[in-house]
Amino acid sequence: MIEFKNLVKTYGKINAVDNLSVKIEKGEVFGLLGPNGAGKSTTILMLCGLIQPTSGECYIDGTEVSRNPIEVKRRIGYMPEDVGFYPNLSAEQNLEFFSKLYNIPEKERRTRTDELLDLVGLSGVEKKVGGYSKGMRQRLGIAKALINDPDVVILDEPTANLDPQGVSDYRKIIRNISGSDKTVLVSSHILSEVSKVCSRVGIMQKGRIIKDGSWDELARNLDLLGLPEIIINVETASGMPELVHDDIIRVDYSGGMTKAKIIASCDIRTDIGRILIENRIVPREIALDAITMEDAVLSYYNEVNS
Ligand code: ADP
Repeated sequence: MIEFKNLVKTYGKINAVDNLSVKIEKGEVFGLLGPNGAGKSTTILMLCGLIQPTSGECYIDGTEVSRNPIEVKRRIGYMPEDVGFYPNLSAEQNLEFFSKLYNIPEKERRTRTDELLDLVGLSGVEKKVGGYSKGMRQRLGIAKALINDPDVVILDEPTANLDPQGVSDYRKIIRNISGSDKTVLVSSHILSEVSKVCSRVGIMQKGRIIKDGSWDELARNLDLLGLPEIIINVETASGMPELVHDDIIRVDYSGGMTKAKIIASCDIRTDIGRILIENRIVPREIALDAITMEDAVLSYYNEVNS
């Protein structure tokens, strides 16, 4: 549904996007994860047809973007980091305005506006958008990105301005969208955000995607990264045996009878599963801690720097 083919964007001597190639299938929620300056926004602007690539191509469902900008814009919904709204209009009036730009027939316009306001939790809010909090504006931004019922939804740093409640609401909204057959591309520099909503992640550094895959696929390479410590969270249905293993550095049992946090020198999730089963204990979760995934992503970044 989305394809980047040898995409390049240079600004003077800076390679903002450097020969980037990746394919994103229909229905995927793909996360572009990278530090500030990695090239995420530049990639997204080219995909939306808002800036021209220096070379290479972007495709939306087989249609090349820079040669067919209008056609592509009809099929995508884009939320930039800072969405512009008319401050003296309500959410409903703003959405109505944008839906007119897409020539959506009046009857459909009403239904769609109502549905979207409901989806983002802004139904019945009479207040003018000028008085909105950053989180409310962001939610309205998601509604605006969906107004033309796009096949592809592109969100640039959608959680940048949100408080924890806003982040949690945003996750629910994305789950809702992804259940409706749409393809979503979301950029973020915050690992936990991408890991929670995305089915696949591309780790971006210096204009390139240096690794891509599901969290599980990325996590499977952990041993190759040479991390000094790996944290594994274990939860069972009934009690916890004493966890003994040569590669365990220490175990924190303070989380209660059914929980343990293992600090190990390598990824021993499979062995932990076996120990539990040998002790006739049903595992509920044997998962890598977020800190470990963060270290892994940093290792991927360092790999490309060395
Ligand atoms: P990200 O979205 O990952 O933070 P960007 O795509 O905004 O990264 O930027 C990638 C690189 O390109 C940065 O070094 C940035 O300074 C540079 N860059 C982006 N836009 C421009 C521009 N219009 N002119 C010059 N340099 C730019």
